[in-house]
Amino acid sequence: MGSMHTGLELVDDGGEALAAFWRERIEGGAALIITGGLAVSPEGRGAADYAVLGEAATDARLAHAVEAVHAAGGLVSAQLFHAGRYALLDGLTAADGSPLEQVAPSAVPWRAARGAIPRELNDDEIWRTIGDFASAARVAVALGFDAVEIMASEGYLINQFCSPLTNLRDDEWGGTARRRRRFAREVLAAVRAAVGFRVSLSAVDAVPDAGPAATRSAENTAAERASGVPVTVRISGDDLMPGSSSADEVDELVRELVEGGVDAISVGVGWHESRVPTVQAAVPHGAWLGYAERIAGVVRASGAPRSPKFVTHAQGSRRVAVIASNRMTDLRDVEEVLQGGLIDAVALARPFLADPQIVARSRESTYDLINTCIGCNQACIDRSLVGARVSCLVNPRAGNESRFPLTLTVRPRRIAVVGAGPAGLAAAVDAARRAHDVTLFEARAEPSGQFGLAARIPGKEDYAATARAAIAELRDLGATLRFGTTARAADLIGGPFDAVILSTGVVPRAIEVDGADLPHVISYERALREGVPDGHVVIIGGGGIGVDIAAYLTEPSAEADRALEFARRYGLLPSTGLVGAGVAQRNPAVSANRPQPRAGELVTVLRRSGRFGDGIGISSRWVAVGRLKDAGVRMLGGVHYRRITPTAVEVFGPEGEKLSIRADTVVVCAGQESHNPLEAELEASGIPFAVVGGAKDARSVDAVRATAEGLAAARTL
Ligand code: SF4
Repeated sequence: MGSMHTGLELVDDGGEALAAFWRERIEGGAALIITGGLAVSPEGRGAADYAVLGEAATDARLAHAVEAVHAAGGLVSAQLFHAGRYALLDGLTAADGSPLEQVAPSAVPWRAARGAIPRELNDDEIWRTIGDFASAARVAVALGFDAVEIMASEGYLINQFCSPLTNLRDDEWGGTARRRRRFAREVLAAVRAAVGFRVSLSAVDAVPDAGPAATRSAENTAAERASGVPVTVRISGDDLMPGSSSADEVDELVRELVEGGVDAISVGVGWHESRVPTVQAAVPHGAWLGYAERIAGVVRASGAPRSPKFVTHAQGSRRVAVIASNRMTDLRDVEEVLQGGLIDAVALARPFLADPQIVARSRESTYDLINTCIGCNQACIDRSLVGARVSCLVNPRAGNESRFPLTLTVRPRRIAVVGAGPAGLAAAVDAARRAHDVTLFEARAEPSGQFGLAARIPGKEDYAATARAAIAELRDLGATLRFGTTARAADLIGGPFDAVILSTGVVPRAIEVDGADLPHVISYERALREGVPDGHVVIIGGGGIGVDIAAYLTEPSAEADRALEFARRYGLLPSTGLVGAGVAQRNPAVSANRPQPRAGELVTVLRRSGRFGDGIGISSRWVAVGRLKDAGVRMLGGVHYRRITPTAVEVFGPEGEKLSIRADTVVVCAGQESHNPLEAELEASGIPFAVVGGAKDARSVDAVRATAEGLAAARTL
């Protein structure tokens, strides 16, 4: 499980929230967990919700969680982190009460750092910071961590030293590419010296069938730690920043790290301020494999024997592994990557939020049960960006395992769930897992609600997989599935059920404009289900759904085509195409009725007020809107609708001017309304019930809220 920031390290519960989160992933088959960034000093924190290694309360929580990992038969590596100019330190103070300052190789500010200009580190401070990495590594080993990872990627401090964009120095730490990389070399040397040399990651070396618990003994752990722990370094395969380190410079860094005794190189990509998306749903699966493969080639050419199973420095022989990461969601793809022979390991992060059992289920080939990460970022990255605790849209228990343990209920109840959209599925799955007797009603023969619609948008095919997994699990758990059945109040009250969860979702909102009833005016739902005829299209409404519909009309349908287009658009190494092909094969239904991609100029999105793409998460909105602009889609805001004619939509423009926009089809994306027809009768009957998701509130319909409400209802009714 690759590194991701969760904020759980600071939950003041003795470390149990973190322990429960990690324990579940090890029990689900992860061999090695890499922690989220653990700051090596107070000013190295990414923000207030980052833990600092060496602080007593944090250390106690980490030690408890590490113990939980070991007890479950797994391994855990501490990621040593310094944010440099990316640190958001507003209001934070050092131990002596003085305000913490951002520090960096040079005083180059970050746009998102709210005006803070980092202070340039002087020579003494640079050596002290190197010492902080070494001290933090020692603390990590003392706390029981099995390995350490030096974070030198994604634009954090070490990456800042390497880059000419953020290192403007002309001393021994800058001025030439080699001097800029010196900080990275010195950190590795200091950490290496601090934690020893000879190591073996036995759990990762284990045969798959043995299962994690069989791979490790307490004696091994102690013996390994006495002789040193592995040191991995995470680097940027490409900073994706114009003018930053060249590919040759990155390759040179790789050679220097190999020379410096690194055990494995984990390949990340991009900086937070890069204008190339790296982890959003719009990024094709496997888009970054080419970078990891290039680096694997450099490692091989450097003469370091490649590690077939991540065994490092064994018996003095140098073996260096290369770990690929980012935008892979399915272990069948990962298996193919590993079979390709260049990559030694793959670190998935968000897929472990979505499904802690992804490894175990893949081993058992029960792929249909795997709850797939949909790349939405809404409950993970977007939350971490505002300092909120991370969870997962498709798995609201993620990060909340200690609050919602998976213990069987002592009071089994007959629970009806009405509506198989995201909220209903979250409620039904949780209730069924805990041995409630669940009946799920869904009016459509093929359930999945808004997820089923979303899966028709190019890049969102995985939305179908998450709904499919929930239904497969419900079948597995023996729930009663009544699809194609519109539940009436009489079906629910008067005896058959002890409690009801109403998750009847939303319906598209109609618009009140002359001509809205013409036959070529259709709802977004109909557009997605039936396709859109050739010709000019006007989309009324430029929120998240309107932007999605414009992508649906203009993006290539096949992911393999989109991968080529993506690489071309951003000037990237083309991906192998290996992964994209798998996605299409696994989700054939979502491509049904997809229109042929049309030129962007044929599509106009109108918006009365607000920003285009409002409602899309902070880390994804700029990508979604940007790709429409690149495609030439016309986006016109601040309009007032006059009328719709058989051939046009007539509006007043932002300056009050009359505009007539040609329209062979008009797609209405004017929001949604709650569909909640049963609440009044249930209320009158006295049966315990809860209304969740869009049925409860369609104004700010939000799938993160919807699934969290589904889970909460399943726990409280
Ligand atoms: Fe994946 Fe979305 Fe869950 Fe994040 S919130 S792990 S992106 S499904």
